[in-house]
Amino acid sequence: MHFTHVTVADRNAMLAALDRAVAEQRRFGLLLVNLEKFRDVNIELGHRCGDELLQRLAERIGSVLRADDAVFHIGADEFAVILGNLGSPQLAELAARKMLEVIGGNVELDGRVVAPVARVGGAVYPDHASDLGALMQIAEAAQQKARGCREGYVIYDQLLRVEEQTRSDLKGKLKVALDNSDLMLYYQPQVDLQEGVVSGCEALVRWNEADHGWISPEVFIPVAESGELIDTLTYWSVNVALREWFRHCRGCSQTASISVNLSAKLLHSPEIVELIQRAMNIWGAQPGTLVLEVTESAMMVDPKMARSTLAALAELGVILSIDDFGTGYSSLAYLKNLPVGELKIDKSFILHMAEDQQDRKIVQSVIDLAHNLDLRVVAEGIENQQTLDMLVGMGCDFGQGYYIARPMPLAELPPWVESSNWVYHRVPSA
Ligand code: C2E
Ligand code: CA
Ligand code: CA
Repeated sequence: MHFTHVTVADRNAMLAALDRAVAEQRRFGLLLVNLEKFRDVNIELGHRCGDELLQRLAERIGSVLRADDAVFHIGADEFAVILGNLGSPQLAELAARKMLEVIGGNVELDGRVVAPVARVGGAVYPDHASDLGALMQIAEAAQQKARGCREGYVIYDQLLRVEEQTRSDLKGKLKVALDNSDLMLYYQPQVDLQEGVVSGCEALVRWNEADHGWISPEVFIPVAESGELIDTLTYWSVNVALREWFRHCRGCSQTASISVNLSAKLLHSPEIVELIQRAMNIWGAQPGTLVLEVTESAMMVDPKMARSTLAALAELGVILSIDDFGTGYSSLAYLKNLPVGELKIDKSFILHMAEDQQDRKIVQSVIDLAHNLDLRVVAEGIENQQTLDMLVGMGCDFGQGYYIARPMPLAELPPWVESSNWVYHRVPSA
């Protein structure tokens, strides 16, 4: 295969190049580069700037490619890069990283500075797939996966392949599990870092599947989200969490809060408000005791709809928490107008903050930001005493993590509270 120089061409040209590469029977990589928020550039700065941005990015991508490589503009905000004559599959990762590095630098357009963000997914022929259709499909799957990861790129690997294969298999099994109530909730304590007491728990779904054993929610929640199952799963988790939690609290002298994860999909269905209101009434949830965690990206899918759903939930006395804060792209102006009560700093910033000064700076900024906006702030992923101490010193309100406690069945909670230094804390009613 020989590509003399970098070309910006269309999808057909890319397919032709891929056909040629397969015919030559040499190893090559396919990287799909997706530009995030490109639509916003078009809307805010106009199509001329949008086009200029694409041109500049194509040049930047071109600058890190070798003579055997080629770049194609295959969709509004999408480039494909063919890495010709690839020595080993690992080199695709190196190329993806280099590409993200050059794409990420600021671009000046009509006097405005834009910081492009891209996600790269890739796969290697013939290592990952032996025909073109499959190669495209798995490169796309890798790119989907890259959207949620901090590095910004994913090269298809064995793990992803197993995931793909088991996906449809899992969907059927999950449906049966939901029908048979084979799922359960574990509860992970959250503590008030300034008071030194347990303030509540986050409910996390668990599935012990007969053939596969424990399956991570990070595997089966996306499976549920790719179909209708997520509705059933969310209704199930809200109901079970409230039932179990408020029954549990009835025996305690103090009421703590319960945090439940709400899938992105549900935020855009108006029935969720009625469902939650009903569940709160049935299980006697006081205002301020139910926290719903929603990710930033979930809110950005349809901000108008999300806003009205969130406003109705806030009316019910539900505290809304932005989960995985810092990994999405929500604008602060937008955030200010949402009825949010809590920011939950993503664990990727907390896990290494004891050693990483950059992470520490980010964490401190988020804490300050939250407090300036009158929001409370939770740090998740606390894995050691040093991190815990730092967060207390930085003024963080609440904390959660393996160092404090791992998620556990509800029955294990009272003995844990008994044997730990943390005590229950009364949530002030809203
Ligand atoms: P998440 O909401 O960000 O939940 C926190 C995850 O971090 C949990 O993983 C928890 O077990 C883990 N974690 C807690 N402390 C630590 C720590 O110190 N270190 C590390 N490395 N991890 C820690 P889990 O339970 O596997 O859940 C993964 C994700 O699945 C959740 O992320 C959430 O997005 C989703 N999920 C879990 N339960 C539900 C549910 O009932 N409904 C919905 N829609 N999503 C759920
Ligand atoms: Ca969460
Ligand atoms: Ca989180």
